[in-house]
Amino acid sequence: KAALPPDIAALVERRIRSFGAGSVLFYDEPLKVVRAEGAYLHASDGRAYLDFYNNVPTVGHCHPRVVEAVQRQIGAFNIHSRYLFDIAHDYAETLLATFPPALSNVVLTCTGSESNDLALRLAARASGGTGFVVTRTAYHGNTAAVTEVSPSSYKRGGPPAHVRMVPAPDPALFGNDVAQGFTDAVFAAIAGMEADGIRFAGLLVDTIFSSDGVFADPPGFLKGAVEVAHAAGGLFIADEVQPGFGRTGAGMWGFARHGVEPDIVTLGKPMGNGYPVAGLVTRPEILSAFCADFGYFNTFAASPVATAAAMAVLEAIEADGLIANAERVGRHLAGRLRHLQGRTPITAVRGAGLYLGVEFGSENGPAPDIAKGLINGLKQRGILIGAAGQYGNVLKIRPPLCVTAAHADQLVEAIEDVLAAG
Ligand code: PMP
Repeated sequence: KAALPPDIAALVERRIRSFGAGSVLFYDEPLKVVRAEGAYLHASDGRAYLDFYNNVPTVGHCHPRVVEAVQRQIGAFNIHSRYLFDIAHDYAETLLATFPPALSNVVLTCTGSESNDLALRLAARASGGTGFVVTRTAYHGNTAAVTEVSPSSYKRGGPPAHVRMVPAPDPALFGNDVAQGFTDAVFAAIAGMEADGIRFAGLLVDTIFSSDGVFADPPGFLKGAVEVAHAAGGLFIADEVQPGFGRTGAGMWGFARHGVEPDIVTLGKPMGNGYPVAGLVTRPEILSAFCADFGYFNTFAASPVATAAAMAVLEAIEADGLIANAERVGRHLAGRLRHLQGRTPITAVRGAGLYLGVEFGSENGPAPDIAKGLINGLKQRGILIGAAGQYGNVLKIRPPLCVTAAHADQLVEAIEDVLAAG
């Protein structure tokens, strides 16, 4: 391995000294970021990296609307939410207007993990159960309870008995009837837990199945599984932390592509374009039943600055036409990537809008080495990207929604170049 530049080596050393075993970095030669704008991260090596990885700065890095809103509000006042101020309610109403009418209450939090943690508690209260069904490589967050429903977090062992796993809705597994296969798997998982004396509380899925390897098609395949969950007395929790806020190019929310109505929707990541804002949306009776038993207060959530940042994000999605852009650029990109299939080790191109998964394989099965080689090869060519899936063999494409068709072309040409270089 080539030696790291002295400034990078020194920072890595400081990091390992203070962050210890918690220090996880990207790339053989980690990137030191100095500024960012739009679809680009600028690094200490003097290069501008085209960002096809980061979905948090969803409306573009340092979007002027968000920067201005946060600066203005933090200079005016910032306080917890047990006082009245307009921006929190302007935001709540604007956000709720994007949901089906029955989902008319929002609880704001600071992270996706807190949102899912609360969702598990609401679902347990509403159903009287404790058992959850999740997908095999799901990630839903980092609290003790949410880690238990995040099989991908386990380095040893796996989730406890009240959490049952189903395979990802993968056509390679279920053939052309993904909907029936996935529905049957959820049915069997619920039956299995009930046979063990565990009452079912809910089905929790990321509606674009990000860490499972990105599964979006055919739209509607979630319908049967949601019906099965409801028939068994449980709730359907849609985790929109990854697909939400327009990324799928088919409206604001990933669940809508499936024609289903969740009981609880959890939100995070892109919600504040980097300012920590997250939350959940649900029906009033689900929230009030829980609140009869427990208090819920979250010091930093629903603050004036958090809600100003989140409001600016909704405004930017609208003003910049980002949902239509996600659809247009995503379709163009998926089309060009599909053209590479047959000539390259690409075995599938999946996804919706600007959330795409490109799977690599060989006659020996999944090929995570190719995905890993691409991550480093693309970085050398000035493009940032990551991988997902049970075997780490799926390139995960989820750029800020402001990327253009020219950026997409640049990515495809760089992928071809890295693959050709072997
Ligand atoms: N749900 C999903 C689908 C996620 O991808 C993540 C974060 N990667 C979370 C929940 C947790 O969000 P946070 O890191 O903000 O706690």
